[in-house]
Amino acid sequence: MQPLINEQSYRQLPSDCYADCQPTPVKTPQYLAFNQTLAAELGLPETFWGTEAGLGLFSGNQLPDWASPLAQAYAGHQFANYVPRLGDGRAILLAELRNQAGQLQDVQLKGAGRTPFSRGGDGRSPIGPVIREYLVSEAMHALGVPTTRALAAVSSGEWVHRDEALPGAILTRVASSHLRIGTMQYAANRQDPSVIKTLADYVISRHYPSCHTAENPYLALLQKVIDRQAALVAQWMSLGFIHGVMNTDNMTLSGETIDYGPCAFMESYNPTQVFSYIDQQGRYAYKNQPAVAQWNLARLAEALLTLINTSQEQAIALAVDSLNRFPEIYQHYWLTHFAAKLGISAAESTDKLLIDDFLTLLAESDSDFTLSFRDLSSPQQGYLSQQVAPERWQAWQSRWQDRLKAEERLGQDPLALMNKTNPVLIPRNHLIQRVIDNVTTTGDLTLFNQLHRLWQTPYSATTENAPFQQPAVPQERVCQTFCGT
Ligand code: AMP
Ligand code: MG
Repeated sequence: MQPLINEQSYRQLPSDCYADCQPTPVKTPQYLAFNQTLAAELGLPETFWGTEAGLGLFSGNQLPDWASPLAQAYAGHQFANYVPRLGDGRAILLAELRNQAGQLQDVQLKGAGRTPFSRGGDGRSPIGPVIREYLVSEAMHALGVPTTRALAAVSSGEWVHRDEALPGAILTRVASSHLRIGTMQYAANRQDPSVIKTLADYVISRHYPSCHTAENPYLALLQKVIDRQAALVAQWMSLGFIHGVMNTDNMTLSGETIDYGPCAFMESYNPTQVFSYIDQQGRYAYKNQPAVAQWNLARLAEALLTLINTSQEQAIALAVDSLNRFPEIYQHYWLTHFAAKLGISAAESTDKLLIDDFLTLLAESDSDFTLSFRDLSSPQQGYLSQQVAPERWQAWQSRWQDRLKAEERLGQDPLALMNKTNPVLIPRNHLIQRVIDNVTTTGDLTLFNQLHRLWQTPYSATTENAPFQQPAVPQERVCQTFCGT
């Protein structure tokens, strides 16, 4: 085996940015899943996972000598309340490996036991949240959404005690970094003012190297993150994805989706939809996601303020100016995604009305978001014509058809565009729940494997995936999701 090089860049940061710690071994680890493709991208040898060393690594039982485990420190606003010290309470960074494309990737265990940041927690995870994150993060990747990835899922052979005793598991997560808005907040609140500068320089080197040569590198960094998060949230919206817990510690600086705790895809289109049990006020409802992202970015701006300008007044003016551009940037991404979903390649501002009116039809008729958009490219629009009142449907449809004529004159192919922007399959909540129930009760991985495979090609309709295209029937409906922590 070629020696893997762990670059250990996080260890170059000031020592209060992380804490050394070791995974706690588990009784009888067994693979639930392993991602061969991702392993190959990371340069892991093909046979490694099947070896004792492989299982040792992905369970945390026996680390190779190239691993250098640590837990990262971060703060965060949880439901708008600032918590100065959160950190990896149930996650341990094992290594930073450069993938085949030359990008540095964090390899992290989640659920591998207590760390110095665990507070009252056990550092473990039940099998359910591990399965959810494995399936949904890989499905998001296949849908084209920036996201952390899942490399391995291993059951621990131990019980994890929540409201009930549940089988435990460990996820191996891969990310372009685990740097969060909360990481910057933590650094900005150190006594030593050099910590935030060192961390900001690190973020720039790792994710946005062009900022180094910008006139104001830290303002440029803020603007990059604003852009990436605006793009990300617009993409979530275009898929009906509800993150569920957009605390500042759960929003990455890279713009990758992270932490699939109480997340869910909406079925019936309802802008006020909330799934998360803990989100009683609906702070993280579907329609609030862009505003919350902007609010979180304001917290990032606060953390960067002293670096943006030595005059606080100047720094605030510059930061506010950048933050005020968020709605316009977001709107641009939103319009591009939703116009494409209607088959429009060159979106114009007037298309917003056409999109909004379509969404209103879906809301009024309780129509499934995913099925409805996909139905636009079906020959008769059989689903929509059943769902929506005929005169209203025909009125909207004729406006849409007129708009598409302009596209066709441009030589575009609306049908092809719609079929690659409107998935047939999304990871529906009831299907994830069915998988979790199967695995938790009998250990049966058949449905897990099948759905994992089908969710890798979410834009093609096949006979095999037909039953999984449908929304939950009333008795299957999952109305609430839980963090699982
Ligand atoms: P999350 O819900 O993943 O965003 O986690 C919020 C904070 O709680 C983070 O600092 C986690 O590391 C910590 N946390 C969540 N679950 C556990 C657990 N079972 N044991 C220890 N810390 C946890
Ligand atoms: Mg988190």
